Amino acid sequence: MIRLSELKLPLDHPPEAIPAAIVARLGIEPADLITHSIARRGNDARKRSAILLVYSVDVELRDEAAVLARFAADVNVRPTPDTGYRFVAQAPAVPTRPRPVVIGAGPCGLFAGLILAQMGFRPIILDRGKLVRERTKDTWGLWRRSELNPESNVQYGEGGAGTFSDGKLYCRIKDPRHLGRKVLTEFVKAGAPEEILTEAHPHIGTFRLVTMVESMRATIEALGGEYRWQHRVEDIEIEEVAGERRVRGLHLSTGEFLEADHVVLAVGHSARDTFHMLHDRGVHIEAKPFSIGVRIEHPQSWVDRARYGNCAGHPDLGAAAYALSHHCANGRTVYSFCMCPGGRVVAAASEPGRVVTNGMSQYSRQEFNANSGLVVAIDPDKDYPGHPLAGIAFQRKWEEAAFVAGGSTYHAPGQRVGDFLAKRASTAMGEVTPSYKPGVTPTDLSACLPDYAIEALREAIPVFGRQLPRYDDPDAVMTGVETRTSSPVRIRRGADFVSVNTVGLYPAGEGAGYAGGILSAAIDGIKVAEAMALSMVSQDSSL
Ligand code: FAD
Repeated sequence: MIRLSELKLPLDHPPEAIPAAIVARLGIEPADLITHSIARRGNDARKRSAILLVYSVDVELRDEAAVLARFAADVNVRPTPDTGYRFVAQAPAVPTRPRPVVIGAGPCGLFAGLILAQMGFRPIILDRGKLVRERTKDTWGLWRRSELNPESNVQYGEGGAGTFSDGKLYCRIKDPRHLGRKVLTEFVKAGAPEEILTEAHPHIGTFRLVTMVESMRATIEALGGEYRWQHRVEDIEIEEVAGERRVRGLHLSTGEFLEADHVVLAVGHSARDTFHMLHDRGVHIEAKPFSIGVRIEHPQSWVDRARYGNCAGHPDLGAAAYALSHHCANGRTVYSFCMCPGGRVVAAASEPGRVVTNGMSQYSRQEFNANSGLVVAIDPDKDYPGHPLAGIAFQRKWEEAAFVAGGSTYHAPGQRVGDFLAKRASTAMGEVTPSYKPGVTPTDLSACLPDYAIEALREAIPVFGRQLPRYDDPDAVMTGVETRTSSPVRIRRGADFVSVNTVGLYPAGEGAGYAGGILSAAIDGIKVAEAMALSMVSQDSSL
């Protein structure tokens, strides 16, 4: 098979245009094309008057060797890659050691657990939160009644932080082993639509994610894995053996001690108490850059129009997304983050007395507003120096300011863009109705972020308005604060995926600073599970 990329066709092309374009592009006779299938489909909307669909196709030809030789210098004509997944190890038939433990049932822990289970290692998966259906009720408790459950919320519980999300499933990391394909294939087995295997920017939406994590749980349990809900890891026992620090086990919120010598630490970016505990126990942690800012909302119809012109609403294009970035005069970079077309802004706090925003959508992306983070990159050396955990204190400070500015009821502080740019507090919203629940308090957001961030946002918004018409509309709505863009810490690991100073501990996923998003966290979970399996097998064989 040959993979032919960058095959461009106009919107509304008939199906037979694809084989015709393949034949023309490769300069072959129609009879030489035996089969073709779509490997990937995206679009190129740079020219709104001539939007193109862009395909990668896998083709079976009568003489593939001759075509490959003829196109040797063309990067868009290559042998189809082998994207199949192969397990790196197999557990011994008779277990010889404590079961591997995975802390956290988010995308990273879920995939670490799945791969370990598929290799026969029967992992124990611990999560401080609840089963996804119970967790959904608690999450809605904050959104509907301003009742926050600090152990069961948007950040904590089955499925992790990405469960109530847009479910965007793409990332920019290098993936030479096609582990992303393994993730998407498992998602499809668990109920995701097949199109995620071919769409350039696939997404699932929150409802489907809920049923998918349930289905994956059933798979892991059928393979001998075990979940323990409302089991928070409160402490880690580390012993010194021959000059090495080694994990011996975990103290749980239930009072139990769980013996373990291979532990995946996939706790996400909001497990602040766990980061403090690990730091107290001497696990190597360092401060990491992240970003802070607000959510901005526009009617989706404005974004569709700005991106697709007269083709707005075309079924092959769906709800439009955008990605914007600007380097400011004060040296800061402002960019759009986690754009959710046709969705809503959600309350994403996990601690009492603090307000955090994020975004989610359903599969259909048919809600009225588009939202995205509008965030400023910050750095430990400049902005929160002096302590590995200083980024957490920094986040808390601004989340508390947002709580107060919102009226101390978990309402988010909000401001019209026109008022924000004119440096006056909002007293009411205009044409754009904010979607955040339990509600939005019109106010002045400049009390909720550092001055340099406010200055950078004021510079970037009009610039973005020139790139995306109506982005800077005076009635666009900003709500704050967006502080959980990624982890404020990195729990440093070596090339063997083990903590640099604690043998047996495998820091993984977003919380450890090795992923940013559902897909990259899941891929990291696979890599860590593989490294752990190889370590367990090699220790067994040296017994
Ligand atoms: P998490 O998903 O955060 O999972 C960590 C788990 O560890 C949690 O279940 C938690 O309960 C558990 N835990 C924490 N501490 C302990 C402890 N001490 N003991 C036991 N268990 C513990 N990403 C995308 O790619 N696309 C999107 O569309 C998207 N939208 C998002 C929308 C929202 C509202 C949010 C909050 C995030 C969104 N993200 C999105 C980001 C994405 O969810 C994260 O990048 C991803 O979930 C990180 O995965 P993880 O497994 O590393 O950590």
